[in-house]
Amino acid sequence: MILIMGVAGSGKSMQGKMLAEKLGYQWLSTGELLRKYVSGHKKEDMLKGKLVDDKELIEIINKALSQSDQEHMILDGFPRTLVQAEWLLKCHENEQINIDKVILLEVPRDTVLKRLLDRGRQDDNKDTINNRFKEYEKMTLPIIDLYGSHGIKVSTIDGDQTVEKVNQDITSLFDRD
Ligand code: AMP
Repeated sequence: MILIMGVAGSGKSMQGKMLAEKLGYQWLSTGELLRKYVSGHKKEDMLKGKLVDDKELIEIINKALSQSDQEHMILDGFPRTLVQAEWLLKCHENEQINIDKVILLEVPRDTVLKRLLDRGRQDDNKDTINNRFKEYEKMTLPIIDLYGSHGIKVSTIDGDQTVEKVNQDITSLFDRD
């Protein structure tokens, strides 16, 4: 399993899909799963850029993982919090899954803002983008430290380049193996 992480607007979904196609892997995005299965006030919160409750999300992802080939999967948008990261780490250490690689796409806030305002999805406006950036900094970055201290290497990629160049940089991580 490969994890691809980065703030909304970092290009992780586009790059995740491109990599999945190249490797012949399945691409699984928690954002996509949630947009399909969550409704009512939870969906409204989600559209404001708030993260979905860990317990609920872990249940959804656990179910999705048990129904698919985890070895050949790119997981996009999970984990996003320490609780999620610890749960996935436990699965890795129990050998239920195997985290082969973690790719972190780094993009500065200004680029994210510009890209998302251009994209114009329903949850893309200045406030929600700023919310997501704050959540990301607070919640996601400690995950990198946690995984590093458990011997899982995180490869940081500069996401502030053309789609093709980012794709090349990601692909080159696999050439070296
Ligand atoms: P994304 O498509 O990755 O930008 O995700 C869209 C929205 O789905 C996020 O703003 C969150 O509200 C929710 N979401 C996606 N992944 C997660 C996650 N791992 N934990 C909590 N909420 C999530």
